Amino acid sequence: MGSQNGRRPRVLVVGGGVGGLCLAQGLRQAGVADVTVFERDASAEGRMQGYRLRISPEGEAALRECLPRRAQDLLTATANDRHQLGLVAFDERLNPLPAPTFDDPRGDAPDKIDAVDRATLRRVLLAGLDDVVCFGKRFVRYEEVGGELVAHFADGDHAVGDILVAADGAHSAVRAQLRPDDTTQDLGVRAILSRTPRAAAIEAGLPESLRDRFVNVTAPDGLRLALMPMVFRTPPARAAEELWPGLDLGVSEDYYMSVFSVHKDLLGLDDEAFFGLTGEQLCRLVLDRTVDWHPDLRGVFAHAQPAETYPLALRATVPVRAWEPGPVIPLGDAVHLMPPTGGVGANTALRDASALCRALTAVARGEAPLAEAVAGYQAEMVRYATEAIEMSLKIARWSMKKIDVGVRA
Ligand SMILES: Cc1cc2nc3c(=O)[nH]c(=O)nc-3n(C[C@H](O)[C@H](O)[C@H](O)COP(=O)(O)OP(=O)(O)OC[C@H]3O[C@@H](n4cnc5c(N)ncnc54)[C@H](O)[C@@H]3O)c2cc1C
Repeated sequence: MGSQNGRRPRVLVVGGGVGGLCLAQGLRQAGVADVTVFERDASAEGRMQGYRLRISPEGEAALRECLPRRAQDLLTATANDRHQLGLVAFDERLNPLPAPTFDDPRGDAPDKIDAVDRATLRRVLLAGLDDVVCFGKRFVRYEEVGGELVAHFADGDHAVGDILVAADGAHSAVRAQLRPDDTTQDLGVRAILSRTPRAAAIEAGLPESLRDRFVNVTAPDGLRLALMPMVFRTPPARAAEELWPGLDLGVSEDYYMSVFSVHKDLLGLDDEAFFGLTGEQLCRLVLDRTVDWHPDLRGVFAHAQPAETYPLALRATVPVRAWEPGPVIPLGDAVHLMPPTGGVGANTALRDASALCRALTAVARGEAPLAEAVAGYQAEMVRYATEAIEMSLKIARWSMKKIDVGVRA
């Protein structure tokens, strides 16, 4: 990475998701590099964003390290307001089951960011980056030419830089080029992700005792439901009006995110059929598979929004491996994919962003050579990402009984 000739190093970030945008914010704050993010989506609204993200203490710390104060305040204002009660577990008739507990050093701090709406997070991460993020740029390949990196995009355009960060998620095209043998493992679990407006769920009879909690239901037939509330402390549009006038955070209502998961052997559908189902058909499948469930829960499923309902396959990177320490650097799901059961994939990507930001800042200031800084970043990343994946697999096993990957738990 050259700060030679008085020029600031040029950092090309492929992928404007959670990790890539957080890194761009951090580098911009540090003021040590010229950073550009290349995102394949045509705009901030480009694809399904309709679920909430749990934010761990590490994820919150990374966000606070990388974001300007105003953006942090927006996240605090729009974070989930229903975090006090933790996880509860039941069977499908709502008989209580033992549940794991999670330590949170933040306790019940009233301003903690313990979950956010993903679309709101993305808009906050994009705030102030108009001149940094290029939409509609699908990365296809890179090459090294005369000590510089040239990234090529599907529209025929290209960009030249000193560093290329692979923040392009689970199906990373950068990884496919640099490390074609690195793959992720199919856990055999298929999931249906959906969203129900909170008001509709309550009107349909969701009891008070379940409204403000992370509810886990495991049925004897292997079907597992995770139900999570997203209750905005302040509605995003109002928070923006107060804290960042002119910023569009969209219109959002309180909701429940639900994730139904089951091993594909117990699903009764092959992948082609399952991934071909429409939102309506997925909602119907959930209703059909839960006819015997407690009526207090079924109202939530009956009001799920078909347009916000999607099929998913759960995959994981096992084991996580560092890349050759050089100017092409991995971050987030591109290098450590994990199932959503632990609620830490995005947090790990955020942690990468803050750690990589520190490493690149040291390099730009001449405090460390690039290879050494990148090797140090990756050694740490492999350690905490491996822990995060093992924890996520452990919870997947606890809640679903059957998954296909063998990792020490
Ligand atoms: C149902 C579900 C629930 C989850 N819940 C949680 C949770 O509660 N907490 C948590 O921490 N994690 C959660 N996760 C995991 C989390 O979503 C991911 O780990 C996180 O988004 C990874 O961030 P990332 O920046 O690496 O990738 P992404 O956020 O996926 O971003 C990658 C970006 O790269 C872009 N891109 C891809 N290919 C190209 C290309 N060729 N050219 C240019 N751009 C490209 C994509 O459009 C995207 O914007 C959940 C995941 C799922 C599926």
